[in-house]
Amino acid sequence: MTAPVGLVVVSHSAALAAAAVELAREMAPGDLPIEVAAGVADGGLGTDAVAIAGAIGAADTGSGVVVLMDLGSAVLSAELALELLDDPDARDRVLLCPAPLVEGLVVAAVAASGGADRAEVAAEAAGALDGKLAQLAADEPAAPVTTAPEAEAPPAPAEQSEIVESFEVANPHGLHARPAARLVALVRELDGSGVRLRNATTGSPWAPATSLARVTTIGALRGHRVEVAASGERAQDIVDAVLELAARGFDEIAAPGTATPEPAPRLPASRPVPAVESPRPGGPLPASPGIAIGPKHADVPAPVVVPDEPGGDPATEQGRLEAAIATVAGEIRDGRDTAARELGAAEAAIFDAHLLLLDDPDVVEEARAAVAAGASAPQAWSDATARAAAEFDALPDPYLAARAADVRAVAQQVLRTLVGVPDALDDPGDGPPPVLVAADLTPARAAALDPARVAGVVLAGGSPTAHSAILLRARGVPAVLGAGPAILDVRDGTLLALDGAAGELLVDPGPDAVAAFRDRAAAQAERELEARERSSAPAVTRDGVGVLVGANVGSPADATAAAAAGADLVGLVRTEFLFLDRAAAPDVEEQEAAYRAVATALGGKRITLRTLDVGGDKPLPYLPLPAEANPFLGLRGIRLATSFPELLADQLLAMVRVAHDTPVSVMFPMVATVEELLAARRSLDEAVAREGRGTPPGLEVGIMVEVPAAALKAAAFVPHVDFFSIGTNDLTQYTLAAERGNPAVATVADPLDPGVLRLVDAVCRAAGEQVLVAVCGEAATDPLAAQLLVGLGVRELSVAAPAVAGVKQVVREVESARAAERAAAALTASGPSEVRH
Ligand code: PEP
Ligand code: MG
Repeated sequence: MTAPVGLVVVSHSAALAAAAVELAREMAPGDLPIEVAAGVADGGLGTDAVAIAGAIGAADTGSGVVVLMDLGSAVLSAELALELLDDPDARDRVLLCPAPLVEGLVVAAVAASGGADRAEVAAEAAGALDGKLAQLAADEPAAPVTTAPEAEAPPAPAEQSEIVESFEVANPHGLHARPAARLVALVRELDGSGVRLRNATTGSPWAPATSLARVTTIGALRGHRVEVAASGERAQDIVDAVLELAARGFDEIAAPGTATPEPAPRLPASRPVPAVESPRPGGPLPASPGIAIGPKHADVPAPVVVPDEPGGDPATEQGRLEAAIATVAGEIRDGRDTAARELGAAEAAIFDAHLLLLDDPDVVEEARAAVAAGASAPQAWSDATARAAAEFDALPDPYLAARAADVRAVAQQVLRTLVGVPDALDDPGDGPPPVLVAADLTPARAAALDPARVAGVVLAGGSPTAHSAILLRARGVPAVLGAGPAILDVRDGTLLALDGAAGELLVDPGPDAVAAFRDRAAAQAERELEARERSSAPAVTRDGVGVLVGANVGSPADATAAAAAGADLVGLVRTEFLFLDRAAAPDVEEQEAAYRAVATALGGKRITLRTLDVGGDKPLPYLPLPAEANPFLGLRGIRLATSFPELLADQLLAMVRVAHDTPVSVMFPMVATVEELLAARRSLDEAVAREGRGTPPGLEVGIMVEVPAAALKAAAFVPHVDFFSIGTNDLTQYTLAAERGNPAVATVADPLDPGVLRLVDAVCRAAGEQVLVAVCGEAATDPLAAQLLVGLGVRELSVAAPAVAGVKQVVREVESARAAERAAAALTASGPSEVRH
């Protein structure tokens, strides 16, 4: 094999370039020549033509070099670098590639390490955004996905000799970049230049299996069926090899039949209704709580057909057009507000793009002019938007070309309103609200669903942590995900019943099963009502054990919500809210005012102020922190606070001042050693002395137990604390070595793993009678976990404000002796699913 094409990364930032190269090397392991020319000599931001020329020389092993660059002047420097190359042949072997740096580098690396020549590597890189664009445009399945320049869409397999076989994607996150890179590398290794793939579940176009950029455009999620087509002498070998790789989960997950990190179905504590039919073994996953019963409705909106009729009176047509545009703008704004509230500004941007299109003078004026000339409003709008979409299609810049999908999506929405072809969900008719079934949902679609018109949602694919699932929860639409592709084939109108909390789905259930589901729904509604009515009453188990139910807050506004929700106290104030997103730390006065605002909202109930819990993973611009290879194992929590003693001293002083007027618990995060706690306590003593009014009367001190070592030696901390608060979010990640934000290991990081429960047990046993044990991690919200925690001896649960009433109700149903027995059994279970059973 000839030497691979070399890659050069030109960036203003050395850190950015290093991170991009690290990512690319992960996708394309091996010793591909990738050179970096980034930053300037004094360590600052910038690019340097001489350094770029040197990098090109080092990367060129004779097969040429593809150069990827970040912003504007990087391109100028790279062009200048070419002029600095003495050897004209070497210069001819260099291609400056306009691809986006990170995405381009990743696909270029996979192509280059698979032996692609430099033109092919550059073309791959240039199409690197296709996967992302396809995903963002997924709410408009009819819209074409842009393709890399000069990369023709391969025709559908037609030859007689062609072999077409298929596999089901088992990877939890679908055929995302890493498994797709494995697949492309394999096909390239086998010289499978004509091999093609398509997503048979969604009916995607065929994509060449040698192109990472194109393979990601087929949008294959877990449970989707992907077809592989190959022809020629080695076709069967190649197809077999691909299927074998797929069966191994693309080497990302364990093969079926072996111990697998696939999400274990979260079974309900009890199953009064057996699932009469499960669309796939393992059943669906719970995604959004609630019970839904309704006829199946496939979410595949048909394109609107514009009626072939002359326009009416121009003024009337004009009015129709303006009204339809205004209606759709309102719908989009609603979606944007929901997305911004639940997901943040970045996710809401897709809605902004759609809104801008409705306001695009080019399109709107053209439609208005056509109406004035006698066209009907639908015809005028359809023509104007089709022209705009075609113009976007033709643009060479993939970012801009992708706008065509946006134009078509918005065009259809307005046309539906104009022509009166409702989205079937806008017009439920006389029947009961349907259960929406789709392969997956975009966040935009999820945000637009009206819980009054949709009984529930079943997705063949999807992930409970995906944004669409978060939005379904936020909108209160019951949902199960990962039901498998067979659910898509169920006839429209077939009755479906689902329990979104238990992850149960019944297809065409009999009358008894429906009645049982209805009973379950009625019982849940009753429970919720009762929980709301009793939210301010204390939570006491059936046998008289009091358990405090507090709220976790991240701002004074959250504290107001916590008080309204009936919280007995604030069990965790994440004081980070005051320190992030600013250029300098807040001074003592500002902190005091913020903590006082939380205290005022709670009206004299205890507030637990956690000292600053930031670090390598959440850096503060005003703290000089070194980059860390493993930030979660680095300078976080109390370690960081004690490294910046003045910061800690100011924070403790503000807390002490507030503690003179209201009951305050000071809590130190991520404590691993007794020495850390003692150092922190000394700082607190100093703050008390600095304030000069003696120890505040209700002041309590505790630590968060988030590090397994702290849990195991809890007894050593007991003499120095009033309480332990177990942070199950971090304790779980450290116990199971599964980073909490990494979706690839999300199913491993289960707080109901007996390993985690044993640590909770160790803390409770060490704490004895004097020291209160609280749990303030997310696990406290899970009813089953809450019961076990109480059984283990936890006497305070702190959760997000909306969960307070429900958790109190759960506690009221616990019999502590029975819960203790169950908890003891859970400690010896083999894994979280056995614990749940
Ligand atoms: C935890 O780790 O469980 C916790 C409550 O702290 P945070 O989520 O803020 O890290
Ligand atoms: Mg934590």
